[in-house]
Formats: sequence, structure tokens, C-alpha cells
Amino acid sequence: MPVTSADSSPEPAARPAAPSGPLLEPSAHPGRESTGFAVTARHGEKARAGVITTPHGEIATPAFVPVGTKATVKAVLPESMADLGAQALLANAYHLYLQPGHDLVDEAGGLGAFMNWPGPTYTDSGGFQVMSLGAGFRKVLSSEFSGGEKARTASGEDDAVAEGKERLAHVDDDGVTFRSFINGDEHRFTPEVSMQIQHGLGADIMFAFDELTTLMNSRGYQERALERTRLWALRCLAEHARLTAERTHRPYQQLWGVIQGAQYEDLRRQAARDLGAMDVEGWSFDGFGIGGALEKENLGTIVGWVTDELPEDRPRHLLGISEVDDLFTAIAAGADTFDCVSPSRVARNSAVYTRTGRVNLTGARYRRQFSPIDETCDCYTCTHYTAAYVHHLFRAKEMLSSTLCTIHNERFVVRLVDEIRAALGTGDFDALREERTGAYYGSPR
Ligand SMILES: [Zn+2]
Repeated sequence: MPVTSADSSPEPAARPAAPSGPLLEPSAHPGRESTGFAVTARHGEKARAGVITTPHGEIATPAFVPVGTKATVKAVLPESMADLGAQALLANAYHLYLQPGHDLVDEAGGLGAFMNWPGPTYTDSGGFQVMSLGAGFRKVLSSEFSGGEKARTASGEDDAVAEGKERLAHVDDDGVTFRSFINGDEHRFTPEVSMQIQHGLGADIMFAFDELTTLMNSRGYQERALERTRLWALRCLAEHARLTAERTHRPYQQLWGVIQGAQYEDLRRQAARDLGAMDVEGWSFDGFGIGGALEKENLGTIVGWVTDELPEDRPRHLLGISEVDDLFTAIAAGADTFDCVSPSRVARNSAVYTRTGRVNLTGARYRRQFSPIDETCDCYTCTHYTAAYVHHLFRAKEMLSSTLCTIHNERFVVRLVDEIRAALGTGDFDALREERTGAYYGSPR
């Protein structure tokens, strides 16, 4: 049903912004007590290893969480994702809301059951895709988080706006009205709608609905957007409590608040303090996401401001990173989990990560490389196929090229983060960072 103004009924059916009666006690959900987070090792000022417990299993952190935008990591079986060591997968609420619809996924038993992935799952709030459509984003790290194919450019790098696009999303204090990327139909997301969609999708870890800004927004706009995100966070907690009470037949779903504030130290710190202490009748966030516009050179600084202020006993997810140096920087600054669409997106464009940097397999030098893409890689592709064969697949435009390269790239990032986690336990983090960034970029970072 098209929506024409902020007062119209959103899809799905409108529900009250705040529950009318008292909320369920957080402990009243039978699954709540079996979820949580424990720190198992620390290194330096901020870095830590730990374990997130969900109804679908544990996630040893730091962990890289591959993105399966539409309930599939493109071109790769869920079984292969498990084999390559992925501990959890993240799907995009926006895409699954539009197709096939969260009610259908709910009927199927939730995201994991629907896609035959028995492990933990995450969904984002839908806010990033909704708000990045048509906004004049410059290249920021978080633009990598977009699941939209329209963000792809020939270089494999991402910019969140496609050429010639009109602005397709309008934000007001109550929510966001936007047009479907599939057929142009108008839809509306509010904090309550995002919670209803994510409860329907049934992921173990969900994110609060937040307003995404860009580095080009004015300071004044950033302040107003941040206040809006704070008020939306309160509404998300209330709706999450109501839905959890309604859905005790389902496994408990964690809700993580998202810290915005762009490049401003005072805004980031304030947002982290506000959401870290937020409490709606005993309901608080189970963890936190760090979102929004982050320039690569400020990544560690900004994550550091936020983790300074957040409670130590809850996990932190950094949205949209997978570069080798960014992972070390974010983990050193106290982030625990990460997602990114890049490893699979660039793989489909023939770009692969190797110990000594990123390369493109369509290059003539691979035509007769009858050895693996990367001799040091233990992935299924590198243990069964040669670079020459994958080069041929790309030249011949065969679909198997995407499968083999995605397996390789996802394994590369998952394994790197696994190695970092091990190094946090043995005190070798700094040595590993120097070695791996040195090999990848030519000099340590
Ligand atoms: Zn490999």
C-alpha cells in the first residue's frame, strides 16, 4: 500500500508508538538468560577477545560477520560459509522487508531456518539502505555496508549513490518515507516498523533504527539527527519489549543500539553515554553498533571515543569494515564484531585478497599460474583450484568464478580476524599487526 504522508498507515500495519500497559520484565522471556557476552582476554588499553552467546550458538570475538543481504551470501552455499569458518551471517532488513517480506520469513521459522543457516544471525535496522538511497554520500567506510548492487563501480570501490539517482528518502521526526528500489512504490519506516520487521525476520542480533547522516551535513544537522536517533532508540526499546512479550514462543533476540555522531567527539561521546545508560522500564541495549560516516584516517580515534563511554560488559559491532588495516585499528580501539559486503562484492569483480595485497585475477599474469591464488591460503578454492583456472572462469564469464572467489575472500577476512583473536590471547597482537599490514600494504600500518 503506498504511503502518501507521515500520517498515513505504514506497511506493515501501524501500531502504537508506545505500549499502553506496563512492559514485560526483561527476565520474563525464557531465552533472555541464555544470551550474553563475556570478555575472555584483553590486550593494551582497549582490545579484547570474548564470547557472545545467542540461542543459535556462540560467537568468539573479535569476529568478522559476512553479509548475506537477501538471506544469501551471493553465489555461496550456507554450508560453504560454515566450512570457511563464518560464525554468523548478517542480512539486510530493508531488502527482506521488500522481498519476500518479514512475515513470510517469520512463517518459515526465522532467517536462519529459512536459509538453512543453523548459526547466529544479525539483521541491520534497514536505516542505512533506506537513507542512503539518493542521498549525496561521498565515499565513507560505512558505504561499504550497503547491500545494494547500485553502489558498485567499475573499480570495485563503493560510493553509496549511483549516477543520476534522485533523492528517494525523506526523513522526519517520526520516521523515513522512501521508495522501493525494486518498483518505486512508496514505503515508510519508523522505529516501531523496523522492530516489527526485525522481530519477524528473527535474527539473534538486531539493531535499533537510527538516522544516518553524511560527513557533508552541517554540525547543526548532526545535532538534530543525533537527538532524533536518541528518541528513536527509546521507541525501539519500548517496541522491542512489547514484541518480545508477544513472542515468547520464539528465541530471544538481542537489540543493539547504534551510536552516531559523525566526526564530532562531543556528539559521539554523548551518544555513547546516552545509549549506554538508556533504560526503558528495565529494558536496555544488549550491545551496540557504531555507525555512520567514518573517514578511514579517523576510524581508530572515533571508535576509541565511543568505546571510552560504552559499558565494558556489552559487545560492540562496527558496521561496514573489512580492510586489513581497518580491522586491526578497530579491534585495537575496542570493537568486537564487524560486517562488510566488500569481500563478496569485489570477488564477483575478480578482485581477491592475498597475503601481499589485493589483486585482480583477470590480469594476464594469472593465465598460466598453475598454483593457488594465494599459497598461504587454506580455503576450499586455494586447496582445490589454480589461479589459472579461476582466471579462465572470469574470462569465460562463468558463474563459478564468483563462487570460488567469494569463498576465498570471505575465508581471507574470517581467518585474519581469527588470527587476531588468537593473538589477543597470546599477547602477540602488535607483532601480528606489523607483520600482516606490512605484507599487505608494503609497510606496517
Ligand atoms: Zn583461498
